Amino acid sequence: MKNIDFAVIGGSYAGLAAALQLARARRQVLVVDAGQRRNRFVDAAGGTSHGYLSQDGRAPGEIAADAREQLMHYPTVEWLHGSAEDARVASDGRLEFRVGTTAISAKRLIIATGVRDELPPVPGLAERWGRSAFHCPYCHGYEMDAGRIGIIAASPLAQHHALMLPDWGSPTLFLNGAYTPNAEELAAITRRGTQVETVLIARIDGVADVVLQDGRTLTMNGLFTQPRTLMSSPIAEQLGCAREDGPMGLFIKVDEGKATSVANVFACGDAARAAGNVTLAVADGAMAGFGAHRGSMG
Ligand code: FAD
Ligand code: MG
Repeated sequence: MKNIDFAVIGGSYAGLAAALQLARARRQVLVVDAGQRRNRFVDAAGGTSHGYLSQDGRAPGEIAADAREQLMHYPTVEWLHGSAEDARVASDGRLEFRVGTTAISAKRLIIATGVRDELPPVPGLAERWGRSAFHCPYCHGYEMDAGRIGIIAASPLAQHHALMLPDWGSPTLFLNGAYTPNAEELAAITRRGTQVETVLIARIDGVADVVLQDGRTLTMNGLFTQPRTLMSSPIAEQLGCAREDGPMGLFIKVDEGKATSVANVFACGDAARAAGNVTLAVADGAMAGFGAHRGSMG
């Protein structure tokens, strides 16, 4: 059994920011990471991340790699590549889990495991995720070059995209049987200048060409949709952390200091908020690091 003061599960933006604060407080911290960042699809497409100060337009993997490199300069940090599994609260209150055959026991645990996106089952959409299909207008709307934008409805949240995206271009909302606006919603969407298409989508072709079941093809600069978010890891559930239901999916309930409902367990980043981005993950992570550190001084 490997004993450690602080363990961070998830070594992306939120987990790295948490670990950095603990490292700078000269604490022993183990970061466990499976290397499956939510935005890795952007890296695979050769794309860039937007909106995070001083890193706007950089590859998301480079931002994370720089942060990790700086973190690893601190002598009290240890990195373990792998997936944390089978978490439990031991009878003495320590937090135990396993990475492969290594059993780990931590006094305090920070969960920064993120979420994964469940896309609507539109043929050709998953292949374009992070390349020409996205969910967040603030992250990727600008790159639509104020051109034609396809909104693929996956749920009633499509309404928000239909109302927002005219600020970034000329949107067409493809209802695709996933959302039926009522008269009031339809009037609001139309007033914003968003076109509404009711014919079902057959598939996505090319960069962002929407092929309809009636044979028409509508060429778009890019696409937006509303994935469900699923927690990437069952660690929080295994420990009994209370969760909250957000519009996109479940997330871990935390207080202002990022403490969960389970003693000595903290959570940050996408896993612990209704909707996230890199900036918020870093801020949450820093707060979780402070919270976990303060909680260790009693
Ligand atoms: P993640 O970055 O998802 O990292 C979680 C980490 O935890 C992963 O490395 C994962 O492997 C690890 N992990 C999970 N479970 C375990 C386990 N059991 N054991 C060990 N490790 C585990 N945001 C922006 O600000 N700007 C953008 O331009 C932008 N573009 C995006 C484009 C796309 C296509 C997508 C999907 C998202 C985009 N985002 C963007 C959002 C951004 O990716 C997330 O908000 C951010 O990654 C959240 O950081 P996080 O640290 O909470 O989680
Ligand atoms: Mg997270």
